[in-house]
Amino acid sequence: LELRPSNVVNIKEVGAGSGGTVIRARHTVTGRLLARKIIHHVVAGPEERRLILRELQLMKDCHAPTIVTFYGAFWDDGDISVFMEYMDLGSFDRIIGLVGHLPEHYCAQISLAVLEGVDYLYRTHKIMHRDIKPSNILFNTAGEIKICDFGVSGQLINSIANTFVGTKWYMAPERIQARDYGVQSDSWSLGLTMMELAIGRFPFPSKGSEGQGDVEPQKKLSIIELLSYIVNEKPPRLSDHPPRNADGTIDKDAPPFSQDFVDFLDACLIKDDATRPTPSMLLGTVPETGEILGHPFVQKARAARPGVDLVAWAKVISAAMAEAPSPTSCKAPPYP
Ligand code: ATP
Ligand code: MG
Repeated sequence: LELRPSNVVNIKEVGAGSGGTVIRARHTVTGRLLARKIIHHVVAGPEERRLILRELQLMKDCHAPTIVTFYGAFWDDGDISVFMEYMDLGSFDRIIGLVGHLPEHYCAQISLAVLEGVDYLYRTHKIMHRDIKPSNILFNTAGEIKICDFGVSGQLINSIANTFVGTKWYMAPERIQARDYGVQSDSWSLGLTMMELAIGRFPFPSKGSEGQGDVEPQKKLSIIELLSYIVNEKPPRLSDHPPRNADGTIDKDAPPFSQDFVDFLDACLIKDDATRPTPSMLLGTVPETGEILGHPFVQKARAARPGVDLVAWAKVISAAMAEAPSPTSCKAPPYP
């Protein structure tokens, strides 16, 4: 795809994060729909700008079924536009904001998709994701689950890195403490992400609740309190958090979680990074021998995959979206 400022038209803003804006756009030459992520005010000189573009081009070589396709990037004054595949059902933070907690068998498929994507990135390109969270896992009406926004460009990270840019609360304890970290920190982020999708809420307690309750928007911890909680306290557990509906009420009809799911999240959320499993260990593929083991939760997800109708589920989500008052009003409440 030959992308230039003159051959892309913006259609509609679909979301905004702390560092940028995402717009549904169209490539006028081919008519293809694109997601255009504009990162504003990147502080970079000519040298750094060239480096950022060169590093972003690495995404062109990332081809995997669970990774969002990258089309290209260009500079437009102080902003950089990154073009990727448009995922019409958006991200899972929006989806839980709309439908509440997700059933376990879908959580299993999402976990599997994320692990396969992360494992591919690491195995094939020697890159970590570094930013796994519900807003970076996307869904579409074809029933595909894909990850986006992985850290391909170290220079781009440096040029926008500022302590208060980007959501930090999915970061593993070792990263919060600015220690050396490895692929295991992606496992932590996946664990926290999947717990959030399973309960419909970010799983840290509110002030004074002593680990019993869920975060209430009005009583939420400050960022600093939350980060020190993650570093100093016990990790969250699935059994401490009841699944909630989109309106925040407890879903009393939700079936209990399986022991495999509880164990899987416990493994992802081991605080000590030296003993926490890597994504490849959870996924359990040893390509040299063709042996597949991995965590039982993931093994079962893999075995169940052919029978899980994600297209039908996508239809349900799509219908819920069509009914929602406005796409920007359904952002998950706990930590905006
Ligand atoms: P943060 O800035 O803290 O990383 P974020 O991931 O929500 O948060 P962005 O990456 O800028 O911020 O994305 C904003 C929103 O745009 C996302 O929440 C998601 O709903 C939507 N979005 C991102 N990429 C795509 C895409 N390829 N297709 C469709 N929607 C997308
Ligand atoms: Mg994002």
